[in-house]
Amino acid sequence: MFAPVPRQPDHREIEPRILKLWADRGIFQKLVARNRGKPKFKFLDGPITANNPMGVHHAWGRTYKDLFQRYRAMLGQDQRYQNGFDCQGLWVEVEVEKELGFKSKRDIEKFGIDRFVEKCKERARKYSAVQTQQSIRLGQWMDWDNSYFTMSEENNYSIWHFLKKCHERGLVYEGTDVMPWCSRCGTAISDQEIATEGYREITHKAVYFRLPVLHPSDFGLRPSDEYLLIWTTTPWTLTSNVAAAVHPEIDYVRARRDGDTYILAKSLLHVLGDKAQVIEELKGEKLVGLRYKGPFDELGPQQGVEHRVIPWDEVSAAEGTGIVHIAPGCGKEDFLLGKEFNLAVIAPLCEDGAFADNFDWLKGMDAQAAAQPVFDSLEKKGLLFKVEDYTHRYPVCWRCGQELVFRLVDEWFISMDSLREEIKESARQVRWIPEFGLARELDWLSNMSDWCISKKRYWGLALPIFRCECGWFDVIGSREELRTRAISGWKQFEGHTPHRPWVDEIRVSCGKCGKPVARIKDVGNPWLDAGIVPFSTTHYLTGRAYWQEWFPFEFITECFPGQFRNWFYAILAMSTVLEKRSPFKVLFGYASMKGADGRDMHKSWGNAIDTDEAFDKMGADVMRWVFCRHNPVQNLNFGYSLGDEVRRKLLTLWNVYSFFVTYANIDKWTPGAGFRGQKSEPQSLTPDPQSLSLLDRWILSRLNSLVKLTRERLDDFDPSSAPRAVEEFIDDLSVWYVRRSRRRFWKPALSGVEGSASDTDKQAAYRTLYDCLVTLAGLIAPFMPFLAEELYQNLAQPSICNLQSAICNPSGRVPLPESVHLCAYPEPDLSLIDLDLEKEVGLVRAVVSLGRAAREKSNLKVRQPLEAVLVRLNEPGEEEAILRHAETIKEELNVHDLRFSMKDQKFPAGYRVEESPERAVGICTKLTEELENEGLARELVHKVQNLRKAAGFDVVDRIRLHYQASPRLAAAVREFEDYIRHETLAVVVTDEVMAEPDIRESARINREPAELALKRVRE
Ligand SMILES: [Zn+2]
Ligand SMILES: [Zn+2]
Repeated sequence: MFAPVPRQPDHREIEPRILKLWADRGIFQKLVARNRGKPKFKFLDGPITANNPMGVHHAWGRTYKDLFQRYRAMLGQDQRYQNGFDCQGLWVEVEVEKELGFKSKRDIEKFGIDRFVEKCKERARKYSAVQTQQSIRLGQWMDWDNSYFTMSEENNYSIWHFLKKCHERGLVYEGTDVMPWCSRCGTAISDQEIATEGYREITHKAVYFRLPVLHPSDFGLRPSDEYLLIWTTTPWTLTSNVAAAVHPEIDYVRARRDGDTYILAKSLLHVLGDKAQVIEELKGEKLVGLRYKGPFDELGPQQGVEHRVIPWDEVSAAEGTGIVHIAPGCGKEDFLLGKEFNLAVIAPLCEDGAFADNFDWLKGMDAQAAAQPVFDSLEKKGLLFKVEDYTHRYPVCWRCGQELVFRLVDEWFISMDSLREEIKESARQVRWIPEFGLARELDWLSNMSDWCISKKRYWGLALPIFRCECGWFDVIGSREELRTRAISGWKQFEGHTPHRPWVDEIRVSCGKCGKPVARIKDVGNPWLDAGIVPFSTTHYLTGRAYWQEWFPFEFITECFPGQFRNWFYAILAMSTVLEKRSPFKVLFGYASMKGADGRDMHKSWGNAIDTDEAFDKMGADVMRWVFCRHNPVQNLNFGYSLGDEVRRKLLTLWNVYSFFVTYANIDKWTPGAGFRGQKSEPQSLTPDPQSLSLLDRWILSRLNSLVKLTRERLDDFDPSSAPRAVEEFIDDLSVWYVRRSRRRFWKPALSGVEGSASDTDKQAAYRTLYDCLVTLAGLIAPFMPFLAEELYQNLAQPSICNLQSAICNPSGRVPLPESVHLCAYPEPDLSLIDLDLEKEVGLVRAVVSLGRAAREKSNLKVRQPLEAVLVRLNEPGEEEAILRHAETIKEELNVHDLRFSMKDQKFPAGYRVEESPERAVGICTKLTEELENEGLARELVHKVQNLRKAAGFDVVDRIRLHYQASPRLAAAVREFEDYIRHETLAVVVTDEVMAEPDIRESARINREPAELALKRVRE
């Protein structure tokens, strides 16, 4: 007996129960042990930031990881199952700062770097545990006790080794650059970080201002009140202006307004208003070299600076004035122009985003707050033209949301120019899915600037760079090297992880002047942490044999948009330096997750979905199915309605499962009861083809085609094709196979008489449906591990049944594995695939579907039999196929006759016709009295069936049926009495009044009144 199946699956009950079953029986451990030593599937997990509970977008990525790992495990492949946590970096620091109520770096230093760093470690540990529990809830199988943490000593020292290699190639240098800077976090923000998630729409004050031209006559201009008209959206940077840029090719004008002359781009003349008069047109190149008086010449740092006009091809005549203000200490492009034209560099801001002490009245003022004072000062000097609101996409700190400023900083870099081509070569070794990934990565590699690896922070990789005042610096490559070279501080450091502040105690001796030298204070870019994991997790430095066993990895999968410049880049770059090759062979990337409304998920927008809530409301299986069936190239707009859609599809499967179990239990059918009467011998599930109906052969062909396709698609790292094919199969199974087979299951209980025709057919139906369900359980196991296990445990009953199933080694005679996940992945039986038959049934279903549409339009009840269906086909050969299934089509459409119409022939009058490009189907709508009587009988049967259900009768209960009816209906009942008895399991059909019925009803049968009464017959 199978356990009875509830009407609906309840994931809240099933999923925890299955998790417990796996844990109690150590299924995962058994799986790992079974596959040990077999051919490997080398998957590398990209680390998840262990800083908060897992987001639903993480659940998406983790589903892919688990899908492919589970699939490969069912293929018998040996795997590492190592999950990774990313632990170091600003993201953790910012959260700890929030926790402690800190406002700036000063608060951290007051608190103590050592205590702060411990707090950061604690947070990473705490959330890695939370994420572990959530991943288990998702059904992800990993060796959770063996996760890697990027804060581990092995990870950090492996990066030291990498940096040393870079240094040996002369690639590490300290450089000055203007970088986007977060004044709250007190750190530079790298280009990668901004490109990924660093812009917001912000309204700033934009200012038009004028600067007096000096010695205009030198340029053939009239010596009058001549001004450059300039525009900027960052007023604070005017304090550091040293140049103004024009496009040499663009047309400029000199225009008079209110007695003054303004120079600006011709196309932007409207800025001056309609009173302006053009007095001269000239190309930008004529302005190059012009000197002008700066807007803040009175400030200390401006003393001695000469301001001039320079040419720049990037100047646009589309907005502003066509003249761009240049401050090399305040902007990235400005800085590059400064180098090119040898301009003075004035750097106004300190780490906290306020003006430096030498900026007179601006000293200590926050850059963003300086806008109004700057306008006031311009006004006083007669330089202000006008101020207006300006809305633009402006970079913000991706961690804390603060508006960024551009600031001149000293940072450490890895020079990328000499590595560029080598890394591109590595990228080309990879199979990128989707294919455009390669072009994206190459594009990034072609355009990337040097890798800024330093951050002026506390919690992160301690960059092993020791630099002396005299200019000498060296990179330490290992703990051992640090120990031998330390001249002091080793005692304070020993026993600690290589983090601040302990490692900062060490001094080594300067290679040039011999002075004791400390480490630079900076910590590393966190992408170094994640980039080294192909090496650190395989013990590249400490156990080379293990590394050789697993490197290079076969497969990685992460979200596409974010990782081209981040993780993909980091692992490719680092592996190229260390091993001159890509660390992985196949990359499967997927797009981004958005809210159901297509916007980014935000709590405040009400479209964010909490992961735990999703587990609770939707269930892990449904989530996983939603993820897997989605086209990974497109963004996933994730919401509960997607889950409802999937749940409906799964309910269809559940209903088939429930149908099977219900009838199998009635008939006491078990797989062991034997397909051919064998009672004890283990047997192959492949049924005897002799006893199979066309319907059985069709669904088994569909099943094996599905198995074949699923394997092919999963082997090709395509997660979404198989779920869609499974859904189609479930539909075929439910609305065609089971619906059309229902009567076979209703036949009298199994007689036990071997070879009786009805028995053989019934057995074939059970066997076929059972095969479909058990194979399906195996097939969906990597996608929906819980539901698959639920089906398997009940259907295969591995604990009590010693049979083997088709999904478990069809050739051998091993007992059933105790979990579906310990089974071998289903293999297609190619001999059962009959594509012609699949096509044929497809054709039949298409004809039936047109016929149904025609019936619906004629407004005739489904149960009203009709005279004939007329089919017109265009394809040769289809007629024979249709004829083979004539009975089916007639039954489906409830018609007595099936006929063919010639091509190009018109349908006769009285037919209702539906057409598709390939064929047309007409239904004869004329009713005779006999057809109407038959219709009445069928309606009556339908009513009785409903009453049986309402009375709670069992499907096999026999009944007495009493009726009083109009003469018309009574005649119909008499005419079709045998049919009514057979359909309703009535032993008696009579018009006598029943004394004490189990149920009665006054009904209308096609407008004919009737009294119906039913009574169950006890045996
Ligand atoms: Zn910040
Ligand atoms: Zn020195």
